[in-house]
Amino acid sequence: MAAAQKFDVVGIGTGPGGYVAAIRGAQLGLSVAVVEDDRPGGVCLNWGCIPTKALLRNAEVVSLFSRAEEFGITVGEWKADYAQAIQRSRRVADRMAKGVEFLFRKNKITLFPGRGTLKARNVVEVTGKDGAQTLEAGRAVILATGSEPKSLPGVTIDEKTVISSNGAVRNEGRPASLVVIGAGAVGMEFADVYAAYGTQVTVLEALPRVLPIEDEEASTQIARLFGRRGITIRTGVRVKSVTPGSAGVAVEVEAEGKVETLRADQVLMAVGRAARTNGLGLEALGITMDRGFVTVGPTGESSVKGVYAIGDMAGRQLLAHKAMAEGVVAAEAIAGQTPRPVDYGNVPSCTYCRPQVASIGLTEAAAKGNGREVSVGRFPFTANGKAVALGDTEGFLKVVADKRTGEILGVHIVGPEATELIHEFAVGRTLEATLEELMHTIHAHPTLSEAALEATLAALGQAIHI
Ligand code: NAD
Repeated sequence: MAAAQKFDVVGIGTGPGGYVAAIRGAQLGLSVAVVEDDRPGGVCLNWGCIPTKALLRNAEVVSLFSRAEEFGITVGEWKADYAQAIQRSRRVADRMAKGVEFLFRKNKITLFPGRGTLKARNVVEVTGKDGAQTLEAGRAVILATGSEPKSLPGVTIDEKTVISSNGAVRNEGRPASLVVIGAGAVGMEFADVYAAYGTQVTVLEALPRVLPIEDEEASTQIARLFGRRGITIRTGVRVKSVTPGSAGVAVEVEAEGKVETLRADQVLMAVGRAARTNGLGLEALGITMDRGFVTVGPTGESSVKGVYAIGDMAGRQLLAHKAMAEGVVAAEAIAGQTPRPVDYGNVPSCTYCRPQVASIGLTEAAAKGNGREVSVGRFPFTANGKAVALGDTEGFLKVVADKRTGEILGVHIVGPEATELIHEFAVGRTLEATLEELMHTIHAHPTLSEAALEATLAALGQAIHI
């Protein structure tokens, strides 16, 4: 084998955590190599966030076409071709992945295609098409290998009858009927896409409500709106078995003591994701793990000095934006800076179904559970002029604040552009803004953002437009 190639930093994995860490490291003058066994961009750009957002946009366009008459537009015969929606989403993903390749070139980051394995705390072996190569890291190795879909015990994801999000973003065929197991972000987003294209969708959730990490009012509202669109939502359901057959799949469920069998063309398994750590060589190095995730300190350093882990494989929120924030912190720490640690209590949560669901901070129940006396302000989009003009009035914006100090404890939005609107409160919370300070911030009229102002005013008992 050829002599080891030397870099300051060697990263394994180029998803949002890995590529951002690599770029930040290069900006700080470090020589950086990255190892990737798929296209650069990881699950997010290639198989997750980005292609699903393209599919959800298609779903939104389909729904607008079905409402054309409401806008006084008569359309002739029209057809929504699901295969073309998938093809469009692949083009979008390709473009974004190329963008990462460009950023690597621009920042002089060396990409090694292949599988990376840790051979020592500062040595990574790459096994690719051209055989094996050895990379030596002068300062640190950054592990950023992400996560993969989980299944239920005894159920094999064959990506034909029982599919995961990986299969769903590739499959040009659309089932006539689909059972979605799990009502987290993956389950709710794909339920939205398939239902918009005409699939009969049933969503099964083990917990008492959909999007269970969200505020209870958000869960109730989105479940009601999905129901109105003909999506069957069943909560508090235990899945006993999933049996693929020649004609689709049988799902045996138990709810309120009764067992029944549901049948569908396909099942989408959306019960969470597990860290991708197999074959990385973590055990041999004695890296401390907790429930499958790498245990890390505030800068992402694992129990082995000089080995960092960021993104999904390091646990907490399995979100691209949290991974990117961790990538910056790790790179800055490796470069000898003292970065501000990631604020895990201020990570926005966004589900891009229609209407969108977004939140930040504590739910009302969690805030009360922490012993806080709270003021709650709500504003429905039915009372927001811009939402009425858009014809998108479903949902609300809810602010939970500390009654005594006005500190914003949590914000919960169901509605148009909820995933954009949430950032006003992300900034507000970073700056420790109070209700009073937000109240004095002039919001342009007419905008969806006025719902943020009105909910803030409502929490102070001063709402104008409701
Ligand atoms: P999740 O953990 O968010 O949701 C899984 C859901 O499945 C939970 O509600 C859980 O109660 C339910 N569940 C588990 N076992 C079940 C069973 N046996 N029967 C019925 N329901 C069951 O996981 P996910 O939706 O698969 O997403 C995986 C990760 O990816 C999450 O961390 C998520 O935040 C992230 N993600 C984020 C986005 C986004 O930000 N828009 C989109 C997709 C995925």
